[in-house]
Amino acid sequence: MTADITAFDIEATGLKADFAFLLCVAFGDVGKKKVELLSLSQYGDKNPLTYEEDLVNDVAKKMQDIDVLLSYYGKGYDIPFLNSKMLEYKLAPLPNTPHIDIYWTAKSNFSLSRKSMQNVAYFSQVAHEKSGVEGRLWKAAMAGNQKALRQIEIHNIADIEVLRDVYIELRPYVRTHPYVNRQDSGACRFCGVSALQKRGLYVTHIKNDQQRVHCQNCGSWDRRPLDKTWAGKQLYAAKESN
Ligand SMILES: [Zn+2]
Repeated sequence: MTADITAFDIEATGLKADFAFLLCVAFGDVGKKKVELLSLSQYGDKNPLTYEEDLVNDVAKKMQDIDVLLSYYGKGYDIPFLNSKMLEYKLAPLPNTPHIDIYWTAKSNFSLSRKSMQNVAYFSQVAHEKSGVEGRLWKAAMAGNQKALRQIEIHNIADIEVLRDVYIELRPYVRTHPYVNRQDSGACRFCGVSALQKRGLYVTHIKNDQQRVHCQNCGSWDRRPLDKTWAGKQLYAAKESN
């Protein structure tokens, strides 16, 4: 069974959760087109800001079904913001879901003048484009304006599409990427596909030699124990290049 990686992104009226409303949250699985949106606009005709508790409740439920989270600076902003909302509305803490935060991958592996997702997307020439952010929209949303909220929702959905694209480009650089497939299945840790080829030895000062492997599907590099009984037929049936 392969774990789903779900891109997520929140929009709120401010940076700090005790002084801001959560407006909407978008979710989209990697490899799929669909984007799911949970928003203040979905609960009734009153001022949307009065429905924050309903939205936070639904976001908490949704977060419980996610295998692996994917974000751009979600560890720095989105998750602390949501954690605070859980506290505010006396909800249980969010689950300890593995979280791939591509911001840190971009920051530590590339020499780019700006580390924004917009710049990384532009530089890596991905298919989707990030929409601009206008301050007046957020100000209107802060006053409960439905039209402004709708614009922010569109922006939220677009961000998920860009994030999924950027993730595919940067995936091989995610150092602590979780195993999306069983570790002993011979499948790639990053994409889950059984397309590993041997590429020489991986040697370290503390561990015995390991087999270096290269995924022919996603381009990621990884290592496996040398024990030939370990990885099963899939890995060692792959073409040996060395
Ligand atoms: Zn792969």
